[in-house]
Amino acid sequence: MYTLGIDIGSASSKVVIIDHTKTIVASAVVAGGAGTTGPVKVLDEIFTKSGLEWEDIDRTIATGYGRIGFQRANNQISEITCHALGVHHLLPSVRTIIDIGGQDVKAMSISKAGMVSKFVMNDKCAAGTGRFLEVMARVMETDVSELGTLAAQADSPVDISNTCAVFAESEVISRLAAGVKQANVAAGIHQSVARRVSGLANRVGVFPTVVLTGGVAKNEGIVNALASELRQPITVLPYCQLTGALGAALIAMKELVNSMPQQTIA
Ligand code: ADP
Repeated sequence: MYTLGIDIGSASSKVVIIDHTKTIVASAVVAGGAGTTGPVKVLDEIFTKSGLEWEDIDRTIATGYGRIGFQRANNQISEITCHALGVHHLLPSVRTIIDIGGQDVKAMSISKAGMVSKFVMNDKCAAGTGRFLEVMARVMETDVSELGTLAAQADSPVDISNTCAVFAESEVISRLAAGVKQANVAAGIHQSVARRVSGLANRVGVFPTVVLTGGVAKNEGIVNALASELRQPITVLPYCQLTGALGAALIAMKELVNSMPQQTIA
């Protein structure tokens, strides 16, 4: 028995296949989310990797910003629920999840049973999101995956006072033009994102264990800046970008098992 969870985000597509023991059989991430060829590519990749085919999948759930447009799913579930279940499955001690994706930020309080008891979200502007970091990386002529390493070399981080991505971009350009070291500007950018995200997270209350998910969790500069802003250690799981897809696959397995006659399960 296999189930598949697909998380179609704004920036990337993620997929996880699990078996009846809830073990991850395969996973894949590709750039390109809703409205792109990302979902098709990520499915091609996971089926090639796993040697499985669509016919082997017993149930599929789609989550994420682009979930409604995905026709092959048996069901669609919000990414809030999916992230909570995915992280709780990997780390039951989680009490706070902060998810920083391509175009939004979410903070969730998680109960001992893995349920979301409170959540807040910023999806109104780019400040504090992966998109903000992508814009800044472009101005600095580097890749977003290198921004954290650059920030780690800072000796005197500058203050980036504008939270609006458009104004912050101009601020970064003027700092660079004034001869400020790239590393110090990069560290200032990370601090700006961390301030914005911690303000949001404090609205739900931040209790340990705190887990950071989403593609931005791969950026060590953000992990460190956020930990120092929240004055709490932050855990990043190896599947940080895939927890939404994992949660979707876990819900699909639960629905599948619930739909079976008792003797089949035994
Ligand atoms: P969504 O779910 O909205 O599609 P993701 O959770 O996939 O978004 O996060 C996308 C963001 O993650 C990008 O905007 C980028 O800032 C960041 N990101 C992705 N890969 C990396 C990486 N290797 N290093 C640093 N940041 C990354």
